[in-house]
Amino acid sequence: CAVAAYIVSRRIRSRKNWNHTLSILQEFQIESSLSISRLRQIVDAMTVEMHAGLASEGGSKLRMLLSYVDNLPTGDEQGLYYGLDLGGTNFRVLRVQLGGKEGRVIKQEYEEVPIPPQLMVGTNEELFDYIATKLAHFVEKEGDGFHPRPGQDRELGFTFSFPVKQLSIDSGCLLKWTKGFAISDGIGKDVVQSLQEAMKKQGVNMRVAALVNDTVGTLAGARYWNEDVMMAVILGTGTNACYVERAEAITKYQGETPKSGTMVINMEWGNFWSSLLPKTSYDEDLDSESLNPGEQGFEKLISGMYLGDIVRRVLLRMSEESFLFGTEVPPSLFKQFVLRTPDLSKMHQDESSDLREVGRILKHALGIANTPLKVRKIVVELCDLVTERGAKLCGAGIVGVLKKIGRDGSTAGSRAKSESGRAKKTVVAMDGGLYEHYPNFRRYLKETVEDLLGEEAYANVSVELSKDGSGIGAALLAASHSKYN
Ligand code: BGC
Ligand code: MG
Repeated sequence: CAVAAYIVSRRIRSRKNWNHTLSILQEFQIESSLSISRLRQIVDAMTVEMHAGLASEGGSKLRMLLSYVDNLPTGDEQGLYYGLDLGGTNFRVLRVQLGGKEGRVIKQEYEEVPIPPQLMVGTNEELFDYIATKLAHFVEKEGDGFHPRPGQDRELGFTFSFPVKQLSIDSGCLLKWTKGFAISDGIGKDVVQSLQEAMKKQGVNMRVAALVNDTVGTLAGARYWNEDVMMAVILGTGTNACYVERAEAITKYQGETPKSGTMVINMEWGNFWSSLLPKTSYDEDLDSESLNPGEQGFEKLISGMYLGDIVRRVLLRMSEESFLFGTEVPPSLFKQFVLRTPDLSKMHQDESSDLREVGRILKHALGIANTPLKVRKIVVELCDLVTERGAKLCGAGIVGVLKKIGRDGSTAGSRAKSESGRAKKTVVAMDGGLYEHYPNFRRYLKETVEDLLGEEAYANVSVELSKDGSGIGAALLAASHSKYN
């Protein structure tokens, strides 16, 4: 009789626990959900902040940084150019021989090197010395088929994927670090000067002709092949967007009006914030325990560095409060960033009936073995909620930009009609591991853009992967901003 009572009470307890798990899930679902009307409000908030950021320095959390890129690649570029791309977990060096409209990219070579983690939190000099060393090795290996135009020195485009206040196309001071970087003596320094000094130490004789954000490099790389590209978005470790703005709309810009009448604006939308954004207690904790509390709020809801950690935090709570993984909380769940976005993607795409892949990743990434199917389903559900929220927010951001430049099909956009009276095509170039390797993220993103624009306007917009364009884009911008032009 005592045994029976014990079994019954255990059953009741476990049912209670299960119900509590479900209520934690449901609470997260409610707090993170985004209705279409809420998304429309976010679209509007984005355009309002864009205007504010363009009006004055510090006018908005959206910095709307000047890129000084006022002519984008046309296809006419010729000669040998180098590119250097720094900003995520890897950095890449490349060279490209450009042959003008006929030849286009005649020859191209690149090398990719992981950045040693200690360098991301060391000193400015160490980081740049390391980069310059790798660049020097790469330059030494320059072989046949690569040659600068006669009488010209080699020039380089530098893709630097952090917020920089530029004063010209080839100079700019670091405003702050983001993602996993925190090198305090780098802030405020001119990154081109740092690179140029490090290159000199290594005996590399090359001029930095263009300093660009990775979004700007991606835009340039995509525009080289397609004139309809107006915007670029990075969805990788971090997130950001840039677009082509009319110079006269950039009120805070004091300089000469460029011939093209336009300039690319690096939005730094990772730092966008609005009270409309669905922030949960998990997001608050993630932020306060991050390297940059209070910063990059939009990025922390969207980008690859953070999605896995949001899921981990919810699982930790379920594990602590309702014993999702048994009576003991798996120690791995206390570790920041153990669950990575590629893990999420694999679990989310698991189509096997017993969610085998989910089981495998829980075991290998978190050390949690033998999870029952219903637990695996909860994990997949969480991946779905976190991904859906991030992708929808990114979609709303894209539509906000399209609206600002009159490419969203609304009447305010009549100036985007071409001579023939038909609406212009607009291409949004996308890059970054999150976009490339997470099909469900991509799907939610495109659905959101379509829902917000409506069928007719969406027919003129195309959201396209533009893979690895940021490095070559910088080399192309070095060509179009070469001192020998
Ligand atoms: C940086 C941006 C960058 C983006 C994508 C963000 O954290 O602030 O400058 O474009 O990551 O790499
Ligand atoms: Mg990158």
